[in-house]
Amino acid sequence: MFESRCGVLCNSCERKAAVGCKGCVNMEKPFWGGECGVKTCCESRKLDHCGKCADFPCDMLANLGREFGYDPLPRLDALRKWSAESVL
Ligand code: SF4
Ligand code: SF4
Repeated sequence: MFESRCGVLCNSCERKAAVGCKGCVNMEKPFWGGECGVKTCCESRKLDHCGKCADFPCDMLANLGREFGYDPLPRLDALRKWSAESVL
């Protein structure tokens, strides 16, 4: 099962309950109240997650979080895994 549009593992987040977050795919806007370009783009294309996008991995997706020091590779791996599982 996919847990987010970008490959983040929302179900493993230790802060999810504490901050009242329902997880990426169950919320209209990111829990911080702003806008996530990846979530908006993915949902506007009516995709479950970015791994199903013909443009995967686009620059926006591949660079998401880099400025805050997050490694994008685990997210991209999760997206590939979710895509492979959905065609089994
Ligand atoms: S960064 Fe965007 S797409 Fe990824 S989990 Fe957060 S809201 Fe969803
Ligand atoms: S991979 Fe990029 S272009 Fe495709 S849905 Fe995700 S954010 Fe949008």
